[in-house]
Amino acid sequence: MRFYSLFLSLFVAGSVWSQSLVAVDFTDLKATVFPNFETKEVSGHCQFTFIVNAPTDTLRIDAKNMRFSLMMLNGKAVEYNANARQLLLYTGFKKGKNRLSFSYTARPKQALYFVGTADDYQIWTQGQGKYTSHWLPSFDDVNEKLTFSLSVTTLEDEVANSNRLIAISNGELVKKESFRAIQEGKVYTTWSYQMKKPMASYLVMLAVGNFDQKIASSASGIPLESYLQPKDADKWTTTYWHNERIFNFLEKEIGVKYPWRIYRQIPVRDFLYAGMENTTSTLFAQDYVVDSVAVNDKNYCNVNAHELAHQWFGDLITAQSGKHHWLQEGFATYYALLAEKELFGEDYFYYQLYRNANLIKAAAKNDTVPILHEKASSLSYYQKGAWALHYLRDQVGKKVFDKIVKTYLKKYALKNVVTADFLAVVQRYSDFDTEAFQQRWLESAKYPEADINQCLAKSAMVQALVQLQKERSLPLESKLSRYTTLLQSEAFWPLKAEVLFQLKGQPLAQTEALYRLALERGNLEVLTAVSELLTDIPESLKTSYETLLHAPSYVVRGNALVHLLKRFPHDRMRFFEIAKDWRGANDLGLRIDYLGAYLVLMPETNPDYASLKAELIDFTSPKYESVTRIPALQQAVSLFPQENEVLKNLVNATQHPKWQLVKYARDTIRKLIKQETFRERFTALIPELPTDAQSELQRLLK
Ligand SMILES: [Zn+2]
Repeated sequence: MRFYSLFLSLFVAGSVWSQSLVAVDFTDLKATVFPNFETKEVSGHCQFTFIVNAPTDTLRIDAKNMRFSLMMLNGKAVEYNANARQLLLYTGFKKGKNRLSFSYTARPKQALYFVGTADDYQIWTQGQGKYTSHWLPSFDDVNEKLTFSLSVTTLEDEVANSNRLIAISNGELVKKESFRAIQEGKVYTTWSYQMKKPMASYLVMLAVGNFDQKIASSASGIPLESYLQPKDADKWTTTYWHNERIFNFLEKEIGVKYPWRIYRQIPVRDFLYAGMENTTSTLFAQDYVVDSVAVNDKNYCNVNAHELAHQWFGDLITAQSGKHHWLQEGFATYYALLAEKELFGEDYFYYQLYRNANLIKAAAKNDTVPILHEKASSLSYYQKGAWALHYLRDQVGKKVFDKIVKTYLKKYALKNVVTADFLAVVQRYSDFDTEAFQQRWLESAKYPEADINQCLAKSAMVQALVQLQKERSLPLESKLSRYTTLLQSEAFWPLKAEVLFQLKGQPLAQTEALYRLALERGNLEVLTAVSELLTDIPESLKTSYETLLHAPSYVVRGNALVHLLKRFPHDRMRFFEIAKDWRGANDLGLRIDYLGAYLVLMPETNPDYASLKAELIDFTSPKYESVTRIPALQQAVSLFPQENEVLKNLVNATQHPKWQLVKYARDTIRKLIKQETFRERFTALIPELPTDAQSELQRLLK
């Protein structure tokens, strides 16, 4: 998977061997599951096939807090035991092939999420870092691979909105059947998917929602399905920017045919991470659904390539344990970077390597955990892992590296691997010193400075940037003419951003011409840098700076609006007029910035005031994603704490799947109830809240 940004959280993997994989081998699961939005429960029926190879006394299937019925083993009813974590069977199985079937229900606390409201919801799963066994009886141990074929049932109100929802799982869609429950006026539809090859349980997925679908084909003939909500109909080309090119490039670059029969990508609301590489069916965050302006601020290309690379590195071959997690994340991160090099060029590629090197260097000051460890940071597994591969490729050359990767993938296809397996293949095709590499890169937490510098020396752009950064303490006069030339040149944008950084705090007499040059001639990245760095706008640059309000970037427009309002409050009516129809990206950030500023700076008597206030408060409700609700709640709690609606939405936010929103809501409630008036008001609201929110609030009030 990929996190939004670094340091967000640690991936801690640890697996408990549930049973000897040698004695019992589960080979297949056919399951029908019905996730019910109304009850937040999952019910289903499972049919497992397993082989008993050696005498064993207990059969274990991971199943968290599930209730079972109709337990049948090889066609006969069988006794079983179930605790909070597992389903256990002691009798009835024989040497060789066995079949076990049963029905179950669960109310998953994690791994399966219901988001949105009853008339506009999505249901989706996240198996890595959580356990699929919260919603589907399966195996927490990544070494138990089996073929999963899921049928997912959706339920819709026939009259209100017929056949709007679709259900997605791993593999090919082989059947779709609808069943009308006449009395209820409801339609049940079952979507049956089929996988042909085995995989680990954490890669099983389902998603239910209202989606449109487009199908393309890769150069090799693999169907490529993309999904979007109908409301995002204008965002296909910008969201799936370079989609086919990325697929074709990676399949060729990796050198092994895409291992599955289909590939699809589905954006879901409030997703926990940037993306997740469920086999054949990647889920990614709705934040990457972008229009023609938002795509300039943030695009899906890197996450697209990262999750696709995992279809080989992670899904086809899977690390045996968390200690070898870099074999998945390091490879996915590196191949995504290679795909971006193909799309955006060599300077972009080296700039990313350079930035990551700086992050790794800074982290090495405190981080004592090396890559090859189950508690390594995500920076180590992902970016340092990718760097280790870049160093290896740099040393052995692309041709040999490609041969190594191809052999490694073919040899361990559908199996589990450790780092030594990969290094053994490296040794077979090169005289590269894998032992020294393992010590320096994988087993040491030290920053491998010499190796990294040697690689970065190959980029003239990085060398120029390092040189420029060394000049930070030099007086500006001595650099003025060179910097002017640089800003006028075609140099890669980080060099120009560095120049702008060095203007901060310098006298206007010297900086004005350079800022003007950047504002008038800069590309979007340069304008972004100006909008972030030039906060105290001089009068002489005002007109030029105001052009940023029309830049093809929501980030630039937002920065410009905030800084202009602060610096020139008398012109606020004019600025508000320009910004009045802005919505911004998926997070609606620009709109919330606008509402916040307007409601602070304008009097309550203004004709628009009441409707804009209502709009801000509406953004705090469960109709919206957490990325909208957090900033909206921040504004609303500070501006309108007297509104009960705001307090109610704050309490409801504590029940959300995303920890960022939950943490914000809990912290804010704790702060507010220190005042007796808020404590009383929250207490009075309890009867109006949903049950789960009630108990959370009662807990906080204690
Ligand atoms: Zn990943």
